Amino acid sequence: MDLRIRESDIPMNFPNGAQFAFTVFDDTDYAKAENVRPIYDLLFDLKILTTKSVWVFNGKNTNGPFSGSQTLEDGEYIKFIRLLIKRGFEIGFHNASMASRTRETTLRALHKFNELLGFYPRVHANHCDNRENLYWGVDRLHFPLLRFVMRMRWRPDAFTGHRRGSPYFWGDLCKEYITYVRNFVFNEINLYNVNPTLPYYDPKKEYVQWWFSSCDGATVEKFNRLLALANQEKLEKEKGVCIVYTHFGDGFVKNGKVNDGTKKLLIELSKRNGWFVPVSTLLDHLREQRIAGECTLLERLRMEFTWVFQNILK
Ligand SMILES: [Zn+2]
Repeated sequence: MDLRIRESDIPMNFPNGAQFAFTVFDDTDYAKAENVRPIYDLLFDLKILTTKSVWVFNGKNTNGPFSGSQTLEDGEYIKFIRLLIKRGFEIGFHNASMASRTRETTLRALHKFNELLGFYPRVHANHCDNRENLYWGVDRLHFPLLRFVMRMRWRPDAFTGHRRGSPYFWGDLCKEYITYVRNFVFNEINLYNVNPTLPYYDPKKEYVQWWFSSCDGATVEKFNRLLALANQEKLEKEKGVCIVYTHFGDGFVKNGKVNDGTKKLLIELSKRNGWFVPVSTLLDHLREQRIAGECTLLERLRMEFTWVFQNILK
């Protein structure tokens, strides 16, 4: 199904005559320096520069599935993150920690991020079920029917990062520090086919400057399916944009080696005439090329229905 809405919004030019753009936003779940270093070494060798998110603080009193992940409280991990920055990767935000944190801690996390890395994060993605997630759960959607569907899964007040008065509110801080926030994730290699106004502004979500969509590569299997050669050809032929949503800390590296399929597919991708830059660099470029930025009602409706169908109902 072709969901293109406004052809005129599609920027056809990428720097250096590239035919398409590709990047990754890596949610930091399960990541430690040792289990993601090999994949970042590979990406660096292939000149594919992407965005890796971090948590600033450890998950105190958490024994959940993410408790083994490293954070900026760990000296060895900070060294690894600084090496990535030196190599040209972008570092983004994935909330203050793996567990819910109040406004005060989120503010401390933003300042600590800057103190340790020398800049504030420009890009953010909500993590899992953290209470301070912005416009998450039911509030991710506008349309009443879809909100009703989401209520079967979440209470309306489950996520309150965008609600003033909540101890988890940090919407104003997000607007001040963060330029781009991830929203919907689709089973599609070329985001222009589902979100031609990428990155877009949503006037009903005042605390986010710009939203971006992503392509679903959450697990090794999904990542490898997404980057299958037929999809790579499609992306190049359509002069498209691909921002993969993934978790490199979750099984992409075993015994110090990158998954064979992932490695082969990334090598193939790197031989194509693509523009491989971090998420913020790519989104800045798309914004500079475009006139409109506000998502039309029709585009939003299609995105919301497509996302609910692909991710919730299925
Ligand atoms: Zn996460």
